Amino acid sequence: MFETLSDRLTTVFSSLRSKGRLSESDINATAREIRVALLEADVALPVVKDFIAQIRERARGAEVSQALNPAQQVVKIVNDELINILGGETRRVRFAKRPPTVIMLAGLQGAGKTTLAGKLGRWLKSEGHAPLLVAADLQRPNAVQQLEVVGERAGVAVFAPEPGNGVGDPIEVARRSIEQARHAQHDVVVIDTAGRLGVDAEMMQQAADIRDAVEPDEILFVVDAMIGQDAVTTAQAFLDGVGFDGVVLTKLDGDARGGAALSVRHITGRPIMFASTGEKLEDFDVFHPDRMAGRILDMGDILTLIEQAEKAFDADQAAKMTTKFASGEDFTLDDFLEQMMMIRKLGPIGNLLGMLPGMGQMRDQVGNIDDKDLDRVAAIIRSMTPGERSAPKIINGSRRARIAKGSGVTVGEVGALVTRFFEAQKMMRQMAGGMGIPGMPGTRR
Ligand code: GDP
Repeated sequence: MFETLSDRLTTVFSSLRSKGRLSESDINATAREIRVALLEADVALPVVKDFIAQIRERARGAEVSQALNPAQQVVKIVNDELINILGGETRRVRFAKRPPTVIMLAGLQGAGKTTLAGKLGRWLKSEGHAPLLVAADLQRPNAVQQLEVVGERAGVAVFAPEPGNGVGDPIEVARRSIEQARHAQHDVVVIDTAGRLGVDAEMMQQAADIRDAVEPDEILFVVDAMIGQDAVTTAQAFLDGVGFDGVVLTKLDGDARGGAALSVRHITGRPIMFASTGEKLEDFDVFHPDRMAGRILDMGDILTLIEQAEKAFDADQAAKMTTKFASGEDFTLDDFLEQMMMIRKLGPIGNLLGMLPGMGQMRDQVGNIDDKDLDRVAAIIRSMTPGERSAPKIINGSRRARIAKGSGVTVGEVGALVTRFFEAQKMMRQMAGGMGIPGMPGTRR
């Protein structure tokens, strides 16, 4: 996500690190380099111009703080300005006072609307809502079926036209879906509409007609971040043709430059509300301008990480473990597995690393750690007997061979895992000792 831009900016900053103070020519050179970095990342020219003007002015200005060195000052200014062009505050969905809240999705074909409907459905559900997804894209073959599939995957109801009955009239489908939502007590309706490969009058008219029929609380313009500069022109066309309240950036996982997406907010004046970062339903999040700026500048995204950790963290499970240790039981391979599954729930390990400060530069080295490693460890533990899991000391050569065979790994891998486990166990004992949990083996030492 924005790797090229991120790398370029990091290089600019590191060249400033040795400077004691910034001269006029340092500022000019830095501004020039940032300008090139933004243009190369496909950020629209008017946005780049405003951005650079701000950077120059602020770098020269009085705000040069004593507390920060020149490189840090520039990072701070660039960070502030990035947050600014990305919209400043996080813009949340405005739910209607009287449900159902109607959210309409608009955008070109292939932008990711149908996928997004599923993601929004899943997200809304996790926020305690009862969403209804509506298949009003009757243009693209299979769009209705695709929505039914994502709806099922997300565990969310889908309203689709019954075959032979009103099929072909998306406006009628949209209108009826609102009645259905009231009837079945869905408090949010997400309407998927048809797109075309390019902007055309008929598509705009249909979207505008659906808008007039259901009076959405939020119209979200969905745009593929990989389409480069076209993102800006398409956004402008939808703004004129249908109007929208917020933007959803999709395919931010692509390695495309994506900078055009950064321009959409500045050009249209509409906030980016969500970001999609993959094909799976969970590859999706509320868009936070400050966190995105932090990621682009490789300052990590600790807040997102903490939030995800909170979601994945199972308080009951943790309490169970604490009680268990307090009662004097030892840390077993089952506990080890349980903890690993908690980490697994945080999401793909590559994404997690991207959120840690400074990890951007290490991306290449860590690229080969993948989720399969975690899954393999889980498979090994699951191939053990309960006795082996609670007392791994009994795992001798022949047991190792059996476990390796059962989990489809080498005997060496089983051995390595057991060794790692003993290290983890030792650490747990020391931690328990340090915390003074009565009865823990560590406290007796
Ligand atoms: P629609 O025509 O606007 O409804 O677009 P779809 O939802 O059918 O998406 C078009 C294609 O893009 C599908 O193959 C999706 O799996 C894929 N897609 C959607 N969102 C993302 C994303 O955030 N990242 C990636 N890599 N692919 C996506």
